[in-house]
Amino acid sequence: MLNTTEESASCSTLETSLVNLTKGVHLARVDYQNAMVLHCGMCNTTWGDTLEVCGEEKQLNSIICLRVTKDVVVKDELEFKLEGRMAGSTYKALHCAGCQCFVGVVPYSTPKHLSALRNLFLLQKENINCYNLRNGTMEKASSLHFDQSTVHKSIKELKQEIDLLAETLTAMEKRLKGVYFGKEG
Ligand SMILES: [Zn+2]
Repeated sequence: MLNTTEESASCSTLETSLVNLTKGVHLARVDYQNAMVLHCGMCNTTWGDTLEVCGEEKQLNSIICLRVTKDVVVKDELEFKLEGRMAGSTYKALHCAGCQCFVGVVPYSTPKHLSALRNLFLLQKENINCYNLRNGTMEKASSLHFDQSTVHKSIKELKQEIDLLAETLTAMEKRLKGVYFGKEG
């Protein structure tokens, strides 16, 4: 006979795990407490915030953003880099709607080693001031780190959770097979 109490207990454990997993993803992504607003270092126009930052490219001295405000204007013409770390890449330059200063670039086609940066916004750290929402201070982006260690940590934790879920599923599957086929055979 199918032990329904046991099975539904396993199901509810699984459900809880999935809910926690989803919460984990959400919390890991949205760190409102430590959020900072990114401003133009020249005219103070808002360019974005750190909730949309997914790391930094140290060699290009740039913050990598998924999204920016509409005050970061993408130039129409596609340009081509001949030298430097971005040599061989096509990109569009970004400028500030407030003061027209250079903000950074969006790479489109790149050599393989930069492929992860394609279609993302690379904002030059030296042109950015960061407004810290928690303590109301303004800091230069060049004095801050935007590395991905917290993201890596979350991914590692997620992987452990997923492995655990996979184990639970396999165990449940085995038990169900035992119930449905084992006894009949
Ligand atoms: Zn500006």
